[in-house]
Amino acid sequence: MTSNNSDTASRLDSITRKLREHFGFRRFRPGQAEVVQAAMEGRDMIVIMPTGSGKSLCFQLPALALTGTTIVVSPLIALMKDQTDALTERGIKAVAINSTLSPRLQQEAIEAMIAGRIELVYTTPERLADGEFRAALRQTPIDLFVVDEAHCVSQWGHDFRPEYLVLGELIDELNHPPVLALTATATPDAIEDIRRQLHIPEAEVVHTGFHRPNLTLEVIATEGEDAKRAALLRQLEATDGTGIIYTATVKAVDELTAFLLENGLEVAAYHGRLKATERVANQERFMRGLLKALVATNAFGMGIDKPDIRFVIHHHLPGTIEAYYQEAGRAGRDALPARCTLLYDRSDKNLHRFFQAGRYPDAEDLINVHHALKRLADNSEPPTIAEIETISPIRKTRLKQALNHFKQWGIVKKTTGDRYALLHQETTSHELLRMAQTYRERDEIDRFRQQQMVNYAELPSCRWDYVVNYLGYDDVEGTNCGHCDRCMPDSSLRMAV
Ligand code: ADP
Ligand code: MG
Repeated sequence: MTSNNSDTASRLDSITRKLREHFGFRRFRPGQAEVVQAAMEGRDMIVIMPTGSGKSLCFQLPALALTGTTIVVSPLIALMKDQTDALTERGIKAVAINSTLSPRLQQEAIEAMIAGRIELVYTTPERLADGEFRAALRQTPIDLFVVDEAHCVSQWGHDFRPEYLVLGELIDELNHPPVLALTATATPDAIEDIRRQLHIPEAEVVHTGFHRPNLTLEVIATEGEDAKRAALLRQLEATDGTGIIYTATVKAVDELTAFLLENGLEVAAYHGRLKATERVANQERFMRGLLKALVATNAFGMGIDKPDIRFVIHHHLPGTIEAYYQEAGRAGRDALPARCTLLYDRSDKNLHRFFQAGRYPDAEDLINVHHALKRLADNSEPPTIAEIETISPIRKTRLKQALNHFKQWGIVKKTTGDRYALLHQETTSHELLRMAQTYRERDEIDRFRQQQMVNYAELPSCRWDYVVNYLGYDDVEGTNCGHCDRCMPDSSLRMAV
C-alpha cells in the first residue's frame, strides 16, 4: 500500500483521535506511533519494547482503524482473557477463540469472524494447527496478523514453544497479511529466527532500547540458605510497596511462603501445582495490592499488567539474562522507582547444573524409545508409559522426557488415558541422530547462557551496561548508570542490607 503525505498526516490525526476516544490516552509512548503507522500501511514489522511499555496498543489501535480483522496469536489463555475483557469494556469487538470456549460459543465466534464482524480475534498457536479453524481463517478478511510474545518462535530463545512453528506456513496460507511480531526481549539471533520462522525476511525492526532508568539493579551475595533468608527479610523491611519474589522450584515457593508467613509478612504463593482456584485467588490479592509479596515460580508473570510493582527479588539465580530481564522488568511499569534484587549464593550454580544435566534426551534415549513405540504400534491401542517401559531399557524419567520431546516435534501424540500414539513411523535413525545433535548444541548454548547469568551475579562493573550489551542494542551512557549497586555502592541501597 502506498499513500501520499497528506493522506498519512490525516490518518495519523484520526488515529490520535482514536487513541483518546477508545483508550483515554493523550499521547503515544515512544515507538508506538511508528509501529501503528507501519501496521496501517501494511508493512511487516518486528517490535522489541520492554515489558509494560504498551505493545498491545501497537496492534489494538490499528485493529480499530483498519476495515478488516486483526488476528492476535498469544501463548497464554489467561493473558488473552484479560485483554479481550478490557477491550470489550471499551466497546471494542474482540473475542478469544481457544479451548476454554464451549463448541457452541466457538462456532458463533467463528461465524462472526468470517462475516468480518469482529475487530480482534485472539487465539493460541495450538488452535491454529487445526485444519477447520484454518479454513475459517482463509475466509476471514484479515488485514493484520499479530504474533505476541514472538520470542517463543525462536529455538534459541528462552521460552521456545514448538507450537509457534506452524505460524510461517499459516501466514503463507493466508496470502501473507501484514505481520506484526512483538516481544520484550530478542537478541539479534532471535530476531533472525523470527524473520525466518514467520516468513518475513524483509521485516523492519523497531526497538525502544532495553535500558529502564527507573529500575535499580542490585545483587546481594550470601552464603547458605539461612543467611539468604535473613537478607530477604531485611530487604522486604527496607522496601515499600508490593512486589514479587521469584524462586527456582515449586518446593522453594512453598517453603519460602511458609517462612515469610511465620515472620508476620503478608505473602501468598503462586505456582503451577496449586489448585486453580487458590492460584487465581492469590494472584487476585496480589493484583489488588493486598500482599507485601507474591512468592512465585517463573510460571507467574507473562502479560501481567500491574504497573506499581515496587520490587522483584530473585531468591535463586535465573537461567538466562533474558529471563532475568523479563522477570525483573515486571517492576516499575509506572516509571516510578523500583528495585530488582538478586540474592546470590555461589552454590546456586549447582542447581542449574543439576537441572541442565537431565534437560535433553540423548541419541540412545531417542532411538530406544522410538524403537519401542514402533514395536507397539500394531497393538489395538497406543501404549501407555508403563507399557513402553516394559520393553525399553531406559529409566522412566528419561523415557518420559524423550516422549515429551517427541510430542513437541509432532512425532507422537498423547491420546486419552495417557497413551502415546506414534504419528511418524518413518522417522529414521539418521533423523533421530540429527535431533540428538540439535539437543547437544542447545545444551551447550544453555550452559553458555547460564554462565552469562553467573557473570552478571559476580560482575565487578555496571550492571545495566552488562545487561543492555547482552541484549544487543543500546548503550548505557558511559559506565556509570547511576542506578545499580556497582555505580552507587555507598548509597542507602547498601546500607539497607
Ligand atoms: P506490554 O505488552 O508492552 O508489556 P501492555 O500493552 O500490557 O505492555 O501495556 C502496559 C500498560 O501501559 C497498560 O496498562 C496500558 O494501558 C498502558 N499504556 C499503553 N499505551 C499507553 C499510552 N500511550 N499512554 C498511557 N498508557 C499506555
Ligand atoms: Mg504484552
